[in-house]
Amino acid sequence: MISSTIDGKVIEQLRTHVEGAKHIVITCHVSPDGDAVGSTLGLCRVLRNMGKDAHVVMPDRMPRALDFVDVQHEVVPYSKYKLRGRFLVREADLIFCLDFNVLRRIDELGAIIEESRAPRVLIDHHLEPDDCFDVKISQEHASSTCELVYRVLMQLGWTQAIDSQAASCLYVGITTDTGNLTYSSNDPELYEIVAQLLRCGIAKEQLYNLAMNTYSADSLRLQGYALDQKMQLYPDKHAALIVLTLDELEHYGYKKGDTEGLVNKPLAIPGIAFSTFIREDKDKIKVSCRSQGDLDVNVICKRYFGGGGHKNAAGGDSHGTVDETLDTYFKILETL
Ligand code: 5GP
Ligand code: MN
Repeated sequence: MISSTIDGKVIEQLRTHVEGAKHIVITCHVSPDGDAVGSTLGLCRVLRNMGKDAHVVMPDRMPRALDFVDVQHEVVPYSKYKLRGRFLVREADLIFCLDFNVLRRIDELGAIIEESRAPRVLIDHHLEPDDCFDVKISQEHASSTCELVYRVLMQLGWTQAIDSQAASCLYVGITTDTGNLTYSSNDPELYEIVAQLLRCGIAKEQLYNLAMNTYSADSLRLQGYALDQKMQLYPDKHAALIVLTLDELEHYGYKKGDTEGLVNKPLAIPGIAFSTFIREDKDKIKVSCRSQGDLDVNVICKRYFGGGGHKNAAGGDSHGTVDETLDTYFKILETL
């Protein structure tokens, strides 16, 4: 039995919005991951199956490794197709914001969405959601936004519109955000949702392989180099740090998504409970943090890197140099 965890009034509000909408845009956070891609494309497919004109507009390109989710090559990355993205947002009379909590997180696209008068629906599982949404479905204990999308569709009574393609999208988000049902996945109902997705015809093993176990040779070599040469351990702080500079990334032919999951690896070492990955980008430095147990990396990323996320998995940006970012990192270590 999958219980109704979303307030019935909110669901009815959402039903009214969807039923009255002609053009729907669905968006997600920058550098979309499996949950962002799966939830947007899964919901889009369901809405189209119900006869709605729905489009996925993402702030930037998704990693090539996730192209398999976008079966019909329909995602519009705003960073590349600004005119089309702007047109779709301006035409929309309903906008879904999935897998992020603040419009600021979606760069320029956020400003365009703010200009629109279309109602905004949030479906998300990050901490501290913004107040700028007309319908807010935010559950920090949900495994993934994809789980929440399923729950929303179930409470709306629209699960018959979930075909195998939509179900596959939703499964990709569940499997990636839980490390293939390892963490954030103790709710027995999650497995009942997975069972329903299996009944919709998902190829679970194949999806696992595509979403979680497919790397280019360059990416594997880069990860090997990072773990062998660049991983620093600070045992008395129970901390691990990996820093990759632009030069190192370029040497290994880095492509977006190539270091996905790397920050989790040092947590496999007994005694390590705080792992940080600092990646130099062209215009900023991306910081990713993971923790085990009580250490709240959401608070750390919010305070020091203007970011956020979840208690045990969060990220942010640094706008200084790599050395300045390291100074901040060591300041953080001193507080532990
Ligand atoms: P990752 O480290 O894999 O990029 O992200 C881990 C978690 O933190 C994800 O849930 C992601 O959405 C969130 N996150 C990553 N970077 C940022 C950021 O710059 N701002 C906010 N608010 N959340 C972030
Ligand atoms: Mn997510």
